[in-house]
Amino acid sequence: MTIFIGKNFTVYYICTSSTNEALPTNSNLLKRNIQVQETCPLCKQQKENESHLFRDCTISARIWASLGLGIRTCPIHFISIEEWVKNFLKLFWKEDGVKSSRTSEFIATLWAIWLHRNNIVFRIEVVNPLAIVDTKIILLKELDESVKIKERNSSLSPIGTKIEDRDLNSQGIHSNEDCIVLVDGAWKRCKQNHPRAGIGWSAHFNNIKIFDGNAAVISTSSLQTEAHAILRGLREAINNGINRVHIYSDNKELVQALNKRQYPFEVATLAHDIQALRNKFISCKIHKVSREVVTPAHVLATAARLGKIVS
Ligand SMILES: [Zn+2]
Repeated sequence: MTIFIGKNFTVYYICTSSTNEALPTNSNLLKRNIQVQETCPLCKQQKENESHLFRDCTISARIWASLGLGIRTCPIHFISIEEWVKNFLKLFWKEDGVKSSRTSEFIATLWAIWLHRNNIVFRIEVVNPLAIVDTKIILLKELDESVKIKERNSSLSPIGTKIEDRDLNSQGIHSNEDCIVLVDGAWKRCKQNHPRAGIGWSAHFNNIKIFDGNAAVISTSSLQTEAHAILRGLREAINNGINRVHIYSDNKELVQALNKRQYPFEVATLAHDIQALRNKFISCKIHKVSREVVTPAHVLATAARLGKIVS
């Protein structure tokens, strides 16, 4: 797991490397033949790895329990640290909305644990759970300040700039509060009555993938398959508590048809379902993007077409 906290903590990014061992925790360094203590620098009892450091360590567990986020860790966890983090982020966004203060506190705490760990390892500081709490408070203050500055700047912008911003938005640059759902359909003509078609969707919020999936569909054309993909992308967004969504599709014909509300016969029914679902969002925009942009969804759609459904 890698956590990048970007500019002003507004960009969170978590990715899973193929080995799940992206952070240079002590166990990982040992595997790369760097001679360090393998023991956790916080509790000095267990082996250090990401799950232990951020969640299972007695010191980290004590921090989580003290926060009032409702997080209780137990000695044995059956889910990976990535899933654990993602589950809490999803829960907080779902229950609190996109400006969830619990999300900020959760991320700031993970970050503070990591900073304290580095201070112990590299600056020979002593273990002090209170230092983690203090660092978290500082990180949250910085976050709060940056949000205020951002809000002040946007309210000072001249009207002309705002229109420009809106134009930029329609081209695919969005505020941090919007969820982007990449969708794609994969369809191949074949001799059977029902050609096998697959759809894929991949949703991102603040650069974090929050959910994705794929499914096989019955479809008679690539246009119809893409319509299935958009419809499903919207449904999944609703199910995940998203209320501002941008759908990215690489199918120009369909995006234009949906935006003009004039539909080719083969997608008319699906298009009406899509428009009905759009009304359930506070804001829902459908954009035509290049094929490269929807690659994650394309990979999922192709897999579904070939019968490989991800859970
Ligand atoms: Zn420990």
